Amino acid sequence: MTHSKPSDAAIKNLSWTNPWLQLPDAFYQRIQLTPLDTPYFIHCNTHTAELLGLSAEQLQNEATLHFFNGQQLPPEVQPTASVYAGHQFGIFTAQLGDGRVLSLGEVVGHNDRRYEIQLKGAGLTLYSRTLDGRCPLGSAIREYLGSEALAGLNIPTSRALCLLGSETKVQREYLTTGALLVRMARSHIRFGHFEYFHHKGDFENVKNLTTFVIEQHFPDVLNEPIELRPLRLLEAIVERTACLIAAWQSEGFTHGVINTDNMSVLGDTLDFGPFGFMETYHPEFLANASDDLGRYQFDQQPEIGRWNCLALAEAMSSLLPSRTIPAKLLRLYRQHYHQHYLQRLRLKLGLSTPHPDDAKLIEVLLTTLQQGNIDYALFFRNLADFINVQEKNPALYTLTTDSANLMQWLSLYQDRLRLETISSQERQKQMNQVNPCYVLRSHLLKQSITDAEHGDLTEFYRLLTLLQNPFEEQTGMDFYAQPYNPEAG
Ligand code: AMP
Ligand code: MG
Repeated sequence: MTHSKPSDAAIKNLSWTNPWLQLPDAFYQRIQLTPLDTPYFIHCNTHTAELLGLSAEQLQNEATLHFFNGQQLPPEVQPTASVYAGHQFGIFTAQLGDGRVLSLGEVVGHNDRRYEIQLKGAGLTLYSRTLDGRCPLGSAIREYLGSEALAGLNIPTSRALCLLGSETKVQREYLTTGALLVRMARSHIRFGHFEYFHHKGDFENVKNLTTFVIEQHFPDVLNEPIELRPLRLLEAIVERTACLIAAWQSEGFTHGVINTDNMSVLGDTLDFGPFGFMETYHPEFLANASDDLGRYQFDQQPEIGRWNCLALAEAMSSLLPSRTIPAKLLRLYRQHYHQHYLQRLRLKLGLSTPHPDDAKLIEVLLTTLQQGNIDYALFFRNLADFINVQEKNPALYTLTTDSANLMQWLSLYQDRLRLETISSQERQKQMNQVNPCYVLRSHLLKQSITDAEHGDLTEFYRLLTLLQNPFEEQTGMDFYAQPYNPEAG
């Protein structure tokens, strides 16, 4: 799997800076990574390499391997681990931080876009607490496939750049392979970074962080009067969060652990643990088996997103003009959430012009999906072939346990389509560009992890290829579009 080239690593020759170093020392620890034994490439992602202006070949070589394993870091690459706090399952923890993650810094990629590159599983940091700073292969594969699946669905997310395996063993329920996930995002700054300083009473550093985030990532806010900038930043973050969660809801994605320390201030999906894609439509779908109270179940996510924004507002309160701000923020959150959700659902339904009754049509649809135990992804995919209720539509009716109910909704849909001006061929084409054939179904993910742990990466590679291009039906891949069928073995 490893293509050796004697040349210097192209990654090393990118222009590296570490923006964390512009902040006071209290924000981070400078740290060297702890190399893995005998690392090797499992995957290099052409899609994200391109974002950095590199080809996969330029990445997949011995020099890059040593670079990411910390043995050939040039002096301008100065890794850091940052400190943050967070509300975990609603309870505040005063200190968390990058316990198994290092930031290598930032590079300028294609179109002058900047990306922070992080290594997950690179050893202990000041914030590792009692844990080992490592990332088991299974977790790395979860994040790799999860983040690429979301990117494939056009949902904002951190991305996977490379995956390294090694001879290092890590102990979980069983002894397993230590992996290194190389990931990238515009930034990995979390709500929890603000919370850490606020709850310590270090308002000066809340201010430093606010100025830093505005300058680095929200330059438009610099056009505002100086005293209003923190509020404007908060509003922008609230908007992005609402849009992110609306995107998750529209695709049935359930994050599983939306603690405030996993919330990006840029509105990207971060940290893929016990996430899941809802298959049969059940609003109370729980991806995280240890979430006994269902705090992070599918239908709670919009409300939790709002709750998290309030925790951020609290953390920025020393900089806000008034204590009454949160009420306005709530309205703003709900407004953006509904607007964005409707927009995504309209596209999924092939509706190109808004109509005041669309929200109702969607509400009835969701009830129909639930009552008929219908597979969420397959329903939208197959809906593209709908012609009219008189036709049999077998592709839709085989999905439901309640045909009468489905027929009722389809007649509403048929009436609604009459208000559209585009042809049914055009509608079908548009719908197939937004409704995936392939989602990361949990049995497929599980199998790919088990296989990988036994040294067989075939399923991992295959899933990755399908999920990076989920709207294109591939011949012979029907198995990957279907829900788990115990009889199929
Ligand atoms: P997570 O649930 O992955 O978002 O992690 C919550 C916190 O635990 C973060 O501060 C992580 O850095 C830390 N953490 C999780 N796993 C490990 C590990 N194996 N070693 C060190 N820190 C970890
Ligand atoms: Mg986390």
